[in-house]
Amino acid sequence: MPDSSSDHPTPTTEVRYKGTPVSPGIAVGSLMLLFADEHIVRKRRIRPEDVAGEITRFEAALLKTRQQIQAIRNQLASSIGEAEASIFDAHILSLEDVSLIESVKEQVQSRLVNVDFAYEQVVRSYTRKMRELNDDYFRERAADFLDVSRRVLRNLHGKASAELQNLDVPCIVLAHDLSPSDTADMDRKLVLGIATEMGSRTSHSAIMARSLNLPAIVGLRDVINKLEPGIEVLIDGYAGLFIVAPTEQTKFEYGQREKVHQEVEVKLDALRETLPVTVDQHRIIVSANVEILDDLPLVKEHGAEGIGLFRTEYLFLNQDEFPSEDQQVEVYLQMARASMPHHLIVRTLDIGGDKKRPHLGIEQEVNPFLGFRGIRYSLGRPDLFRTQLRAICRANVENNVRVMFPMISDVTELKQARRILDEVREELRQQNIPQGNKLDCGVMIEVPSAALTADTLARHVDFFSVGSNDLIQYTLAIDRGNEKVSGMYQPAHPAVLRLLQTVVEAAHRNNIWVGVCGEMASDVVLIPALVGLGVDELSAGAASIPRIKRAIQTLNYAEARQLVARWVLNDSSEENQKELEEIARRLYPEIL
Ligand code: PEP
Ligand code: MG
Repeated sequence: MPDSSSDHPTPTTEVRYKGTPVSPGIAVGSLMLLFADEHIVRKRRIRPEDVAGEITRFEAALLKTRQQIQAIRNQLASSIGEAEASIFDAHILSLEDVSLIESVKEQVQSRLVNVDFAYEQVVRSYTRKMRELNDDYFRERAADFLDVSRRVLRNLHGKASAELQNLDVPCIVLAHDLSPSDTADMDRKLVLGIATEMGSRTSHSAIMARSLNLPAIVGLRDVINKLEPGIEVLIDGYAGLFIVAPTEQTKFEYGQREKVHQEVEVKLDALRETLPVTVDQHRIIVSANVEILDDLPLVKEHGAEGIGLFRTEYLFLNQDEFPSEDQQVEVYLQMARASMPHHLIVRTLDIGGDKKRPHLGIEQEVNPFLGFRGIRYSLGRPDLFRTQLRAICRANVENNVRVMFPMISDVTELKQARRILDEVREELRQQNIPQGNKLDCGVMIEVPSAALTADTLARHVDFFSVGSNDLIQYTLAIDRGNEKVSGMYQPAHPAVLRLLQTVVEAAHRNNIWVGVCGEMASDVVLIPALVGLGVDELSAGAASIPRIKRAIQTLNYAEARQLVARWVLNDSSEENQKELEEIARRLYPEIL
């Protein structure tokens, strides 16, 4: 919600918008817009001799758009009828609006700007005027113009991801939503911060932002259409503020605040070599979640004990072909070496849900989070699954690699996956290919059915790792990426704590260890609950490790156990959350 009601597209005075902070930090930079349908409009200066080329590019995009709309129209006319198809005539009329086209060309010529920018500006001004007429007919015409303009911009532009790879100035990206593949493609040296209209703390773009140490805000509703690219913005990932056209005074104040934050970071840095032990000597392992190779140096830098979750799907998401077995071995080996003397847990491909790419061959699904994802995809593509398992086994030369299956929902699925793993290991043995002699195998507990049958699953694995992001989403029926319901995403809900208790008890009864690798592990407010539940390992984005250690070192395990025994029986998550926040404020206010 904006603090100012200004409707002007380019504020010249400071305007503040409030969203949900999901990754700490402060950055100032030029605004880059990424719209819902993945086009970015950036202002670029052109030389007078480039004008003709820009106009040719524009005409080609208009022609291509016309052909596309005509094709859709024809298809509709033959499938459902001429009357329905005629709505596309209005689109063609908008596309060919002579005065609009002329204004765009004129803007390119007179302002010497790229044609996509000029086109976007002209369409915006046209549609604003139409809407101001407050007449249904013109409102519909405005919608037609906007619809068509998205198609034209796409044709002018190509893919968003390509743009995110080829930035030329440091910028702050504001998007309706960012897919994990967009985030994976990003030029990390030039993206200073990320803000999205959609999303929540556990959406994958937020997770990536944290792991890349980029300030990020989600849930900034209805902002993108009010702003122009290129304007200066400040992102405050602590308070969730997105400040457009910040004044010198604001920038100065933020500079001061940043200094204070830096001082806390320096103190936290000193915890790197210390052990995560409670005041009554209860030891917990703290390891790192890793998405991409660039994360590796951070693992040691932040004092993590190995890698508790390597999300391998990012290897498959930021390229257009499947990585070969050898390419995968290379990556897993680097990860395994960087984790020594600790372990590396490689999670097999967790594709589907919001993690998609055309070459993965996942069809459009009505409920992708309940669909063909995680282990279901791997079992449906045994060729890919075997290749990945072979690569994981081959990287296990130092015996510190462990393998983990995502989205397991029952024991039959687990047995199927394990059988394929056994076959792969046997095959490697027969081929005399080195693979280490011990490979622990675990499952992620992220589906309520798995949590409730943890006793059964525990008999077939060496460890559990709770994927709390999904476990909470499926338990509370809250889409983890939907900002409209993000207030109901409550990790301290008694139902969630009871499920976690079931899982931990089942693991310990069966003499296996249990970790948490979802974002719950990185939320320092929730750590007393996880410690009190008896979780053995916490795995989180590397940048969160010092804070997690600090929280653990202030807690008393025996007391935390007693508190949890009460929290699981409480009526509501509010009571639990309130107590947890009080504990955090009392014991470690400096890291909140
Ligand atoms: C989880 O669900 O908690 C998890 C760690 O997996 P992801 O966030 O990749 O779905
Ligand atoms: Mg998950």
